[in-house]
Amino acid sequence: MSKMIDGKTRVLGVMGCPVEHTKSPAIHNMLAQELGLNVCYLPFHVEREDLQDAVKGALGLGILGLNVTVPHKSEVIKGLADIDDLAKEIGAVNTLVRVDGGFKGYNTDMPGLLRAMADDKVTVCGADVVILGAGGVARAVAMMLAKNGAASIQIFNRTMEKAQAIAEEMNALVKQDLVKAFALADLAELDRSKKYLVIQTTNVGMDPDCNSCVWEDPAFYELVDVGYDLIYKPRETVFMQKVKAAGGRSYNGLKMLLYQGIIAFELWNQVQVPDELAYKVYDKLLESLD
Ligand code: NAP
Repeated sequence: MSKMIDGKTRVLGVMGCPVEHTKSPAIHNMLAQELGLNVCYLPFHVEREDLQDAVKGALGLGILGLNVTVPHKSEVIKGLADIDDLAKEIGAVNTLVRVDGGFKGYNTDMPGLLRAMADDKVTVCGADVVILGAGGVARAVAMMLAKNGAASIQIFNRTMEKAQAIAEEMNALVKQDLVKAFALADLAELDRSKKYLVIQTTNVGMDPDCNSCVWEDPAFYELVDVGYDLIYKPRETVFMQKVKAAGGRSYNGLKMLLYQGIIAFELWNQVQVPDELAYKVYDKLLESLD
């Protein structure tokens, strides 16, 4: 938030339901203050049935840009003036940028994850990847990995049909047999001559269910080179603890959250957020988890 709200302050915000838990105001208001920009970021609780009215209202009110979170990321698309190619392919929009005649939708979640991985020196290109889970985020992650040169992508899910649907869609998109689908129990059959980049996209282990893990068997964790859990609360999930105990590197989803926010902020304000400021905001976010 700018130091003082005045007649020239532009409004940014996030629409979701629920939205009360969001960390986005902390990210954006700190960025605005540090960069001396006269913008203010607010949470908006928007029910499903009010979504299209909210988009039109935001346009009428001159709101500069919005983030969109659960459950509106797909539904919001029909109210947009334009959509970025990546967001269209993913089928989910988390950022609205004001353009002539309406809002243009972007997806900054996947570029955010990619930027977080780059920052953590995790290489996607050439990696053998395991995705745990096959929900909305897993689908987007599979697309990001396929587009960024992963050597192989194996999706393991409790409901195997959902993993299969993602694999078929991605293979058709990249025109090769890159993505394979399995049931969770098939994790015991992984090729033990390889080390994997594992992306944990299920809800299992998320606060308040902090003592759970989607797959317990220690033998699996011996194969994990890097484990990325998209959950960030708790700060260290059981999945991350198991990766570490077996000698791998593990990360939570907080940096993905940070960078999806930073990319949105850069789109709205036409600025480049310097690395030092990104790290400063990250430290504040970490503190807020404790
Ligand atoms: P989703 O569509 O609801 O998918 C949930 C996935 O979790 C499904 O694969 C589901 O399996 C699996 N699952 C749930 N409970 C399970 C259980 N008890 N045992 C085994 N598998 C179980 O959710 P999503 O939108 O993809 O989000 C997934 C995660 O990403 C959430 O934890 C969310 O917090 C996180 N996320 C993080 C960020 C970030 O910035 N860090 C951004 C977005 C999302 P079935 O298919 O069998 O039901």
